[in-house]
Amino acid sequence: MPALDPTIWILLGVLLVALVGLGVGLTLRARRQRELERRREPELTPTAPAAEDEVAEGELVEEGPGGVLVEEPALEAPEASGTRLARLRRRLANSNNALARALGELLSSDRLDADVWDDFEATLIGSDLGVGPTTELVENLRKDLAIDGVTDPARARGVLHRELVKLADPSLDRTFKVTGSGGLPAVVLVVGVNGTGKTTTVGKLARLLVAEGKTVLLGAADTFRAAAADQLQTWGDRVGVDTIRGTEGADPASVAFEAVNAGVERGVDVVLVDTAGRLHNKANLMDELGKIRRVIERRAPITESLLLLDATTGQNGLVQARVFNEVTDITGIVLSKLDGSAKGGIVVQVQRELGVPVKFIGLGEGADDLAPFTAEGFVDGLLGE
Ligand code: GDP
Repeated sequence: MPALDPTIWILLGVLLVALVGLGVGLTLRARRQRELERRREPELTPTAPAAEDEVAEGELVEEGPGGVLVEEPALEAPEASGTRLARLRRRLANSNNALARALGELLSSDRLDADVWDDFEATLIGSDLGVGPTTELVENLRKDLAIDGVTDPARARGVLHRELVKLADPSLDRTFKVTGSGGLPAVVLVVGVNGTGKTTTVGKLARLLVAEGKTVLLGAADTFRAAAADQLQTWGDRVGVDTIRGTEGADPASVAFEAVNAGVERGVDVVLVDTAGRLHNKANLMDELGKIRRVIERRAPITESLLLLDATTGQNGLVQARVFNEVTDITGIVLSKLDGSAKGGIVVQVQRELGVPVKFIGLGEGADDLAPFTAEGFVDGLLGE
């Protein structure tokens, strides 16, 4: 047999190596495919349908390090703002709310004599409605009910409804100012004493804005409470919103600036900034909030400055509100924890004292348990309508 040209041997060798490589490649690919299918299987098993407005299904996506499949966190679909108060208002009446109880007692009395009125007045004052508004309400009610000679509970309820709506002041502008100008994002600063529900409310507000189709960025400027930034980030992650955070103990003003700066650069619609509420003394609070405001406004104007008040703290809450209102501009109040043992009358008192409208009320710990405030909706809730 004639000796083959060495070039042919080389070519044959290369061909052989290529064939072996192809075979190994195909086997590995088939094995990987089987593995992928095996891991996908649990996804296909039917599960209980998610509750309304809850988690959208998670998706298996690309492989993470080491070939491990990573499940992309499923984004939640938050509830739109329009339906919230109607859904939550039962909590106002169901809560251990002195105002609702007093109204109920008044309405269920056979005769509206002096004793009944005295009891009613005392309960209203006890519900944090404040002396002024209570006197006003009782006087107007007595007048109306006397003129009309009301013995009919439905009519009495109508008069009460009207008077309470008047006290809650439907004429106040409660628009949530989340439209920036000049191509800049709107900036919402959230202030208040620690524990009032600031971080939770920033998370809830992010959901509300996402439900309205806005793009949002969070700023974790509460750098004093160790868990606050993590807590905020978790809220954001659930609805696909990023959080800008600093290291623990970092200067809150610098984190606030970074957040707004990032918001401007990314072109988001709204930046929500959480702050720390250390009410150690008025001068420090004023310095801290003043500095945060100044650095933010180097980048974009603050469109809304919300004060968080825990409704269960009653008169103490009102004292805090006064201090915050003195040291910084407040454009709206969020009253948290109006579920539970809250005293609904505080809405009226705080608006009058501060001259600032209540814009939102918190009615539970659920992710969408925050509703835009309306005088009508609030009174409907109090009267259990
Ligand atoms: P922060 O220190 O002001 O940031 O307060 P957090 O946001 O950490 O809230 C303090 C606690 O209040 C948390 O346990 C929240 O779940 C709870 N909270 C906030 N808002 C409400 C509300 O509207 N109703 C109830 N029941 N709890 C609330």
